[in-house]
Amino acid sequence: MKVSVERSLCYGSAECAHRVPAVFAFEDGYGVVRPGGADAAEDARVREAVLEAAEKCPSQAIVLTE
Ligand code: SF4
Repeated sequence: MKVSVERSLCYGSAECAHRVPAVFAFEDGYGVVRPGGADAAEDARVREAVLEAAEKCPSQAIVLTE
């Protein structure tokens, strides 16, 4: 699964970084995918958390592709 954040949509709630710190960080007021974060999302438990983070992102800025 590929994970990215569409910065133009993100409004900086930081929820993704709090929910899944192994994958997301909060930098300069935006949620970002950590270097190597997409690899972490291959773990089944982390993947579930990423799916939930995407669902709960208030601006639907987290983009997941297979
Ligand atoms: S949860 Fe969504 S809006 Fe909030 S920082 Fe992450 S990507 Fe941005």
